[in-house]
Parts: sequence; C-alpha cells; structure tokens
Amino acid sequence: MNQKVDVVIIGAGAAGLMCAAEAGKRGRRVLVLDHAKKPGRKILISGGGKCNFTNYDVSANNYLCQNPHFVKSALSQYTNWDFISLVSKYGIEFEERDHGQLFCLESAKDIVKMMLSECESPNIQFRYQTDVHSIEKTEQGFSLHADTDTIECDSLVVATGGLSMPKLGATPFGYKIAEQFGLESCRRLRVWCRLRCTKKTKKTSLSSLVLQSQRKSPRMMARYSKKLCCLLTVGYLVHQYCRFLLSGSRDKTCR
Ligand SMILES: Cc1cc2nc3c(=O)[nH]c(=O)nc-3n(C[C@H](O)[C@H](O)[C@H](O)COP(=O)(O)OP(=O)(O)OC[C@H]3O[C@@H](n4cnc5c(N)ncnc54)[C@H](O)[C@@H]3O)c2cc1C
Repeated sequence: MNQKVDVVIIGAGAAGLMCAAEAGKRGRRVLVLDHAKKPGRKILISGGGKCNFTNYDVSANNYLCQNPHFVKSALSQYTNWDFISLVSKYGIEFEERDHGQLFCLESAKDIVKMMLSECESPNIQFRYQTDVHSIEKTEQGFSLHADTDTIECDSLVVATGGLSMPKLGATPFGYKIAEQFGLESCRRLRVWCRLRCTKKTKKTSLSSLVLQSQRKSPRMMARYSKKLCCLLTVGYLVHQYCRFLLSGSRDKTCR
C-alpha cells in the first residue's frame, strides 16, 4: 500500500506524542509509527510510576547541551508553565516534592492519557507494531518503507528516544538514521555511580530505592522501601558527574 502524509513521526514516546499533538494543531496530516504495541511506555515507568512531569524551576542552566542557545530558544517557546497548565486543564492532580519537582498524585498513566487526548484529531493516525526498514530522501521530502508499505511525507521526525530500557522498546534507530544522513551526533557517555551498601543492607531492600545526593559532599543517602520499581534520583550528583566527564577526565568514580 502507498500512503502520502505531511508528517511522519517515528516513535510514540513523550517526544513523538508532543510533536504529533502540535503538528496536528497546525493542520498537518500526521502519521505516528512505533514498533511497540502501545505508546508512552517509558512515561509509564517514569518517576516510579508517578511521572516527574516538570519542575517549578526550569531554566537553560538546568540542561547540558553543546548549544546552550538551543535550550534557551526551546524554553522561550514552551515553558514548564505551559505544561503545568495543560496538566491542570485535564484535572490531573499533582504534588510538589523536593526542589520543586512535580509528580502526578495518581499515576503516570494520566500523562499518557492526556497526551493521547491531545492527539485525538482526524489529522493524526497511529500505527503500532510497525517496523521501518528504510528511509530515503526524495525531492519532496522522504520515502519510508514500513512493513510492506511505502509512505511518502514532506517532513520526517525521528523521535525514537535514547538507549535506556531496551525492554520497553528502546533501540539505536535514531543514531543509525543520523549516521545515514551524515548528521553529527555527540559522544554518548555512560554515567556510573557507585552504590555503597552496608552489611545490613538486604538485597530485597534495594528493590525500590530513592537516592539523593548532597550538594557539596557527593555522599548519597539512601532510603529503602519494599515495593518493586526502581526510582533513581541522583540529581545533582549526576549533573556534576556529567560535567566532570565532559570536562575530559574519566577515571574517577563517584562515592
Ligand atoms: C526509570 C526511568 C525513570 C524516569 N523518570 C523520569 C521522570 O520522572 N521525569 C522525566 O522527565 N523523565 C524521566 N525519565 C526519562 C524519560 O522517561 C525519557 O527522557 C523520555 O521518556 C524520553 O522520551 P522520548 O520520546 O525521547 O523517548 P522514548 O520514551 O524512549 O520513546 C521512544 C519511542 O520510540 C519507539 N521506537 C524505538 N525504536 C524504534 C524503531 N526502530 N521503530 C519504531 N519505533 C521505535 C519506542 O517504542 C518508543 O515508543 C525516566 C527514565 C527512566 C528509564
């Protein structure tokens, strides 16, 4: 089958859903493709199932980016307050935790539902369990081979996310496409944080773990609870460690 749309978005995660909603509002005919069965699976596990959807205090300084002007420009067009008002419009109750972090009171499912409602438009179609085999540049835009179909589009958005959680559908697809089109991507870094356990620490007590770092002394304080599901909030420590890695030295381990 041959299909022609204005925009194809590959990936129905947080970025793909947001992009589909905005493109749909501008009257573009949008097709969202995902190889998973359902959208937004990473959102569902985010924030320990409650999704830390934004923060009261968001500025360009909170982001690591090789082009800081990009962050400034993005934040000037869509702020944390825009998202807070969207969440409020849907009547989703939320709470503020440490450092202005905002979490759903009920469940991260509310955020996925909200994003899908934002995408409810005759302009926007979703196709799940669909594999994109190849992408070619054409005169007008792009031509994709997905399963047995050929899809033509003017604009293509690759929103296939990062590499974490392959069990939830993460693949290096985006990196491969960047390579195919000769787009430079920055070096990917692993951030290792050593967890120190005492003899008393039982294996089961690590099943749900919240870590917080101290701003000046990077010692972690761990709190344990019983339920499964891992929430790792290393915040400032990770931030500092990334900066440390980016500054060139690589051999130290956080304690
Ligand atoms: C445990 C955990 C907790 C987190 N908690 C928070 C939090 O509380 N707050 C927060 O802001 N962030 C949190 N994050 C980070 C946040 O989840 C991600 O930054 C965000 O979901 C990324 O969205 P994305 O759309 O870029 O990618 P993803 O959500 O990964 O979406 C990518 C989509 O592309 C699809 N895809 C991938 N490859 C292909 C392919 N080859 N073909 C077709 N489709 C493909 C995937 O199936 C997926 O649906 C957390 C992450 C983890 C792992």
